[in-house]
Amino acid sequence: MSFSGLARRALIEREAIRTAKCLLLDWDGCVAIGNKVLPDAAALIARHIERVVILSNNSTDLPSDLAGILQQSGLDLPEDRIFTAGAEAVRIVAARRGARVLLLGSPKMRRLARELGVDLVRQDADVVLLMRDARFTYAKLMRAANAVRDGAELIASNDDRTHPGPEGRIVPETGALLAALRACLDDTAPAPLIIGKPGELLFRRACDHLGIQPSEAVMIGDNPATDGEGALNYGIRPILVGGASSLQMKDLVEPSPEKMLRTA
Ligand SMILES: [Mg+2]
Repeated sequence: MSFSGLARRALIEREAIRTAKCLLLDWDGCVAIGNKVLPDAAALIARHIERVVILSNNSTDLPSDLAGILQQSGLDLPEDRIFTAGAEAVRIVAARRGARVLLLGSPKMRRLARELGVDLVRQDADVVLLMRDARFTYAKLMRAANAVRDGAELIASNDDRTHPGPEGRIVPETGALLAALRACLDDTAPAPLIIGKPGELLFRRACDHLGIQPSEAVMIGDNPATDGEGALNYGIRPILVGGASSLQMKDLVEPSPEKMLRTA
């Protein structure tokens, strides 16, 4: 895209941000990399913090963890404006009272599940709940595959295969583990229930919580397949930054009035 094309697009997107009632922001690769908040994202959040909501497919950390990380950058975003696929997946499973759940996920997610009264089991599961499990093993894969083959419902927090890590490294995501699990199942196995983007569940939760219509929000993210497609399908305007898009987070930050005066 030519410079003037890019500058025009940045102007249009900044106008969309100015008029939106809510700014939904993706976390990994957009607000933070390796849970370190990016300076341009911090500037954007600081400018619009009363309208910001984090909408993330993260299934490793709790909303309170992300709130704490933002706080270290001086950003006071209430925990109830952070929606993650992992925590939502645990809540959905917890609502199925009495279900026996085989959970593959981080220790934090197991703790949340226990707090919400989920019956965590290793066998005879009604539900297999798959999240980003950094301690994924062959034995867990075998246990989960057999549970699903024996009739357990398969729920996955998200289907992303990777997310960007520090120094451009690939961080394997839940989708990579899900691909391994599905490879063990025959083609007649029911499709898993996926909680995160591009599905509508997280978008709906955020809009309902804020009492807004999808058309009143914008979704800022780096992943066309999840942030982009998911937002569009739900009627939210997507704004893609980094990665495949030539637009960067810094292009979305309004120049400060002092800076505009200086360059005028
Ligand atoms: Mg992302």
